[in-house]
Amino acid sequence: MKKLLLAVFSSLLISSCAIFRIHEFGETPGKPGRYPRFGLKDYLIGQLDEYRAGYDVTFYNMDLDLDPYNKMIGGEVAIHFRALEKLKTIRIDLYRNLHISSLQLSGTEIPFLRNDRAVIASLSDSLNVGRDYILKVKYEGKPISAKNPPWSGGMVWKNDNEGNPWVGVTCETEGASIWFPCKDHISDEPDSVRLRMSVPSGLQVVSNGILESHISKPGKEVFTWSTHYPVNIYNITFYAGKYEHFNDTMITEQGILNLDYYVLPENLEKAKNHFRQVKDVISFYSRSFGPYPWIREGFKLVEGPYEGMEHQTAIGYGSGYSNLRRLGGDHIIVHETAHEWWGNAVSVSDFRDIWLHEGFATYSEMIFAEHKKGYDSSLIYARHWLAGWINNKLPVVGPPDVSYWDSKDNDVYNKGAMVLHTIRNVLNDSTLFFHILQTFYGEHAAASHVTTADFIEVVERKTGKDWDKFFEAYLYNREVPVLNWYPGSYDKVQDPDSNVTKRVSFVVAKWTNVPEGFSMPVKLDCKDGNASLIIEVTTKPVLFYLKDMSSCNQLICNKRLSYYKTVIKKSILEEIEIPFKNH
Ligand SMILES: [Zn+2]
Repeated sequence: MKKLLLAVFSSLLISSCAIFRIHEFGETPGKPGRYPRFGLKDYLIGQLDEYRAGYDVTFYNMDLDLDPYNKMIGGEVAIHFRALEKLKTIRIDLYRNLHISSLQLSGTEIPFLRNDRAVIASLSDSLNVGRDYILKVKYEGKPISAKNPPWSGGMVWKNDNEGNPWVGVTCETEGASIWFPCKDHISDEPDSVRLRMSVPSGLQVVSNGILESHISKPGKEVFTWSTHYPVNIYNITFYAGKYEHFNDTMITEQGILNLDYYVLPENLEKAKNHFRQVKDVISFYSRSFGPYPWIREGFKLVEGPYEGMEHQTAIGYGSGYSNLRRLGGDHIIVHETAHEWWGNAVSVSDFRDIWLHEGFATYSEMIFAEHKKGYDSSLIYARHWLAGWINNKLPVVGPPDVSYWDSKDNDVYNKGAMVLHTIRNVLNDSTLFFHILQTFYGEHAAASHVTTADFIEVVERKTGKDWDKFFEAYLYNREVPVLNWYPGSYDKVQDPDSNVTKRVSFVVAKWTNVPEGFSMPVKLDCKDGNASLIIEVTTKPVLFYLKDMSSCNQLICNKRLSYYKTVIKKSILEEIEIPFKNH
């Protein structure tokens, strides 16, 4: 047996890990962020108390009048529901600034109290479990105006360039009870919605689903829209304005999909050209995730008086008809259309898991960039536009039951997307990664609601591995995993008689800023040539021989941009016994 002798400690391999770091990439700020002090208002919307949990809404039948000149809305909303509990008290929601003139259950007026958005009604008899009821609410008032739609929502009252009223509403974080009475909790999606809305003559109304009818009356236009798919409460919406309409179709595996576009008249020609990209976006997502979820009711882009919002089958578009070169498409179209899969079809039951909407839609941007511009360009997109804007002040998954989501914190978007990208890198198998996304979509699009645990379950089932520590590190801790590593080499004497020396290259690595037991592979690539090596790094320092990569002059770690910080740390050598050092 030949004896391995250590001769001298040799030069380091040059590492270019650092070239992938830019400002803020992978940084954990010393000071954690703070959640706001949650109070009654937060629990009133976020918590499903017994008076809301005890019934299931099946249908909202809305008959409303919109007065854009006085910024008023009002009418009657019939809430069809099925009793799940023997409730004697039932709660719906409506912002306090909207006046309720009548509340009837099955035709009988019922007394009610109001506390902030909660409308608490006392019933003369307990509800019968399993029976269907209709609660009719007559109301009117001036709903709140949005401060910064869609992020800070409310009604958006604008005029187009010709002075015509142009109105919309966004309410994802505020709740739909800012404009109509409802059970304002994202866990309860009605099976269908009909919105009949009258507006002043000359205006049109566009809403979710399909246009059932349009009637002109003296001084009024009445539009009736309906959707027969389950819909998130904040996705029920309308747009009122003077629109031009054009349509198109595309062939999908499920049949013909109608594409309808409503734009301001001055943008008609621009839109006809610009919206051509929609077919590519929809067919790319259909191939990547699964079939478009609302084939019976089509796809719509509606020019709205705000930048964009993923309103189901009626996406709000307002980003100026321009493409992002780095993306290869219009950011609003690419992002909001992805929400038809992630957010609208697959929906969370608590905003704490909103990364399943936003992180997935943001990762959709990245893979769309990959589709249009190639894989390397998608990494540039990730490096500069996603990973460079992550705060790491709070965990991605937030606190339960308070409807908490700070949409100003990019992490549910960008860190969520980078978590998905990191999973794809860990798998080192894009086919399996997309199979996981397709399975998650396929199993949960039509079902009720999802939590982060549902996604973890699919990942674990499809990989046959335990991912608890991974998700704990990336979603439930705010810290960024740190790869502590040291690439080095020794000159060794292979045979003392012949005195032949050969270089032994190695890497010592471990993870910190992760839960105990965390383990994640790291791919090392040689800059020149195709040699690469995957090392399984744990929280204990381990030495990995580079073998085939010994001749590599420039070692690149994290070429595919998983989300972690890298630190070259020579002192890690002291934490481990180097075998040839002891000879
Ligand atoms: Zn989004």
